[in-house]
Amino acid sequence: MKIISLNTRNRREMVEITSQVNKLIEDEKIRTGFCLVFVPHTTCGVTINENADPSVRADILAILARLAPEKGNYQHGEGNSDAHVASSLVGHSILAPVINGRLALGTWQGIFLCEFDGPRSRQVWVKIIAETGDVS
Ligand code: ZN
Repeated sequence: MKIISLNTRNRREMVEITSQVNKLIEDEKIRTGFCLVFVPHTTCGVTINENADPSVRADILAILARLAPEKGNYQHGEGNSDAHVASSLVGHSILAPVINGRLALGTWQGIFLCEFDGPRSRQVWVKIIAETGDVS
């Protein structure tokens, strides 16, 4: 298991980590397989979405803020229930194929850590699984 450590800067933001994940795949020298990207936190998530137009990220964060507003009638007393809800809506892991020693993503796809209760220090755990046997 490899770990990417990063510091988020805002309460809610999407931070692209695609290049850091690709670097770990290069370091492992794995040509074909799968890459699991997991965040060990309850107030952030990880997702794949468009990395070209930043307005897509803004729209995603705006919709999540409407679904889980910062101020609401929550039971959890820590003041960050919205972040817990958004975290579960986005999810905590993605699995992507590795081909030719890199993430095999679509043209416009990137991997994003989704911060919902920043700024904080975050970890992203990355496990690269080599494919053995015939490749199809
Ligand atoms: Zn909490």
